[in-house]
Amino acid sequence: MNKTSYNVDKKGFYGPYGGAYIPEMLYPNIKELEEKYLGIIESESFRTEFHYLLRDYVGRPTPLYFAKRLSDRYGSNIFLKREDLNHTGAHKINNTVGQIILARHLGKHRIIAETGAGQHGVATATVCARAGLNCIVYMGALDVERQAPNVRKMQMLGAEVIPVHSGNKTLKDATNQAIRDWINNPVDTHYIIGSVVGPHPYPDMVTRFQSVISEEMKVQLTEKTGRDYPDVIMACVGGGSNAAGAYYHYLHNEQVRLLSVEAAGKGVDSGESAATSTLGSDGIIHGSRTLLMQDVDGQITEPYSISAGLDYPGVGPIHAWLKMSGRAEIINVTDDEALHAAYLLSKLEGIIPALETAHAVAALDHVKPDPEQNIVINLSGRGDKDMEAYTENLPNKI
Ligand SMILES: *Cc1c(COP(=O)(O)O)cnc(C)c1O
Repeated sequence: MNKTSYNVDKKGFYGPYGGAYIPEMLYPNIKELEEKYLGIIESESFRTEFHYLLRDYVGRPTPLYFAKRLSDRYGSNIFLKREDLNHTGAHKINNTVGQIILARHLGKHRIIAETGAGQHGVATATVCARAGLNCIVYMGALDVERQAPNVRKMQMLGAEVIPVHSGNKTLKDATNQAIRDWINNPVDTHYIIGSVVGPHPYPDMVTRFQSVISEEMKVQLTEKTGRDYPDVIMACVGGGSNAAGAYYHYLHNEQVRLLSVEAAGKGVDSGESAATSTLGSDGIIHGSRTLLMQDVDGQITEPYSISAGLDYPGVGPIHAWLKMSGRAEIINVTDDEALHAAYLLSKLEGIIPALETAHAVAALDHVKPDPEQNIVINLSGRGDKDMEAYTENLPNKI
């Protein structure tokens, strides 16, 4: 029987989604990457260095923590995969560590990246500092103002932050500017994309770097539960890289329920939301076919979420396919529910999550967990960067 595959095919597609819809001028860059990425990342020398850096620099393996009080509250066994304990505070560093080693193997000595809230920019500036490579981060001028602490971090790490004044002056415009730079510098520059988005091979490459999350989960669950898989995995989805990493080794194990949590903002139908898979339709954004929020003329609709990391109008093509094939279920969580969950996790477990991550925790209220079930929540990042939002938006009752 032909079982459905959730991995990328030879042409870069997940079902009908993915591919590389790029301007001709970008073709040489993408072609080089596509031809070389698998050979490099599967080589012995790459794997040795990647695993060495994940251990000694990033701090892996991250713990799989049994959250006793949270479990008592919901009446099931809830484990937290602690990506918040990584160096720089989130899962994003797994990907940038992989891509910086790849860049060296490709002979590139100049790195560019786009960033919205600045988390990916910081993770990129961090690995560039360590590698002694030039780092240029494009960031919408509005985001430069809104995310000043991350701008200062990138600068302290030696990166040049270039504000982008076109369009809405946010992430989409920064991405366009990074692509323009790459077209002009095809020989010496590598573009580090921050999620499982963009043209093939980026979605597959970033998924592979993040798959260390589920690789560790298998070992840790065996130790703690006697079985290498959980009943449920829950993860928040912006572009979808932490979710893709947490799902990867379980994609074809249908005993594992995959719950993807998207930001509903002020409500799915409020007109102020980032519930991309629910509201989106087929289209092309940043080089791949996927589900995206657009109007009847195909113009991209501005997304909204209290959390900057989930505020993206598309999703990675793997997530479009996981949804449309029925493999993953989508849960929509509002700003208020996420704030509430952030306070709940802080009070019950002593862990202040990132606002993005709080969406995944809030989704517990949407599932009816069974007392026997083992649930893993991927705790994508820590809340230091969100303290201002938390103090300004105290939920009234916990
Ligand atoms: C960037 C970010 C996300 C969203 O990105 P994905 O690619 O969907 O994982 C989620 N959580 C945290 C903490 C982030 O920094």
